[in-house]
Amino acid sequence: MSRSKTTASATAAAAAMTTPAQLERLGEHLRKLRLLKSSERLEAMLQHAAAHELPYAEFLEQVLGEEVAAKMSKNIAMRTAMARFPFVKPLETFDFDYQPSIDRKQLHSLASGHFIEHGDNVIVLGPPGVGKTHLAVSLGLKAIEAGYRVLFTTAAALIEKLTKAHAEGRLEDKLKIYTAPRLLIVDEIGYLPIDRQGANLFFQLISRRYERGPMILTSNQSFGAWGEVFGDRVIATAILDRLLHHAVTMNIRGNSYRLKDKLKAGLVRSHDDNSSQPGGEI
Ligand code: ADP
Ligand code: MG
Repeated sequence: MSRSKTTASATAAAAAMTTPAQLERLGEHLRKLRLLKSSERLEAMLQHAAAHELPYAEFLEQVLGEEVAAKMSKNIAMRTAMARFPFVKPLETFDFDYQPSIDRKQLHSLASGHFIEHGDNVIVLGPPGVGKTHLAVSLGLKAIEAGYRVLFTTAAALIEKLTKAHAEGRLEDKLKIYTAPRLLIVDEIGYLPIDRQGANLFFQLISRRYERGPMILTSNQSFGAWGEVFGDRVIATAILDRLLHHAVTMNIRGNSYRLKDKLKAGLVRSHDDNSSQPGGEI
């Protein structure tokens, strides 16, 4: 008997073995258990199993495996949406050759997520365009893949929301939103000046997450300039004291990726021969 004939007869046998009423009941069970992927593919999977004469355990493994994979990717997509990233770029899209000051080993070790388990902070410093936000998002995506909840915000948006909530007597609830996710990413510290009340509210958040919830922070300003960023040297020192207690700092010294093509064409000067560019000295 030819292979296609065998397959055809096995499929026919499978079809004959499964009655329409049985199929319907199976479908209903799967939907009640919210095994939606399997309920969609039930008939095809039964036919495939019969055609290939799959052992029972193998069939069950296939059904459950597909269901788990579908649930996991749905879960990752949901948590990615909840994280409110400005863009979704995995680490694999980052061109390390363009930014030689980044220690690849250190980054890959961060990507493994140990810093989250240990509750360490990651602080990424560097001038505009060197990939700080990209790396923060990429590490956030790795954390989501590892099963953690992540929230991304800019420092300006965070402080605006905390200030508004404070004025409306809802500060506690708002602080909870930023303390609940396992990993909080605060991007762009130092782009906009922060007033005294904003600095105080930011300090409150840092104190609550201190030694409990890891954070990734990015800034175009050196730590020495944070006194000016927060408008108060004492608060800035208190913030840095807590942040840096358990932290990994990455200093990116390089050219803006946004200027990549212009640099190539010789339209702008590279970071190496223009160290006085704004934000260039960390
Ligand atoms: P920063 O936050 O430091 O100002 P971004 O992370 O926003 O810089 O990077 C600017 C743009 O360039 C983004 O679209 C980012 O994805 C891209 N980019 C920056 N560095 C790299 C890199 N090394 N490889 C690939 N894309 C990069
Ligand atoms: Mg950025």
